[in-house]
Amino acid sequence: MSLWDSVKPAKQKAPHVTNVELAADQKSLSLVWSDGASHRVAARTLRQFCPCAGCVEEWTGKRTFEIDTIPADMKAIEVVPVGNYALSFTFGDLHRTGIFTWELLRELCERTPAS
Ligand SMILES: [Zn+2]
Repeated sequence: MSLWDSVKPAKQKAPHVTNVELAADQKSLSLVWSDGASHRVAARTLRQFCPCAGCVEEWTGKRTFEIDTIPADMKAIEVVPVGNYALSFTFGDLHRTGIFTWELLRELCERTPAS
């Protein structure tokens, strides 16, 4: 390993989503990433891990609901880009305040891929 390797930032620039497609039944989304990866993630998973202030207590980081209470057939009815760093979704229950950063989306895609 050269000295140059050791001074490079440990973490490379995080990949971002280059294409997002809502499935016809709106229950899952296909995401394509700038590093060539592609994932399918359930709308339910996104709704379960919504990071907004209504879903996660600001001070404790505690979720305000049990994730099992989100119906299995939760849909996403709209996807909107937020700047160049995130996506926001309107879910079937009309919840739409969550901002899903690339990092969060990638984590959810990898941890809980849609079957
Ligand atoms: Zn929320």
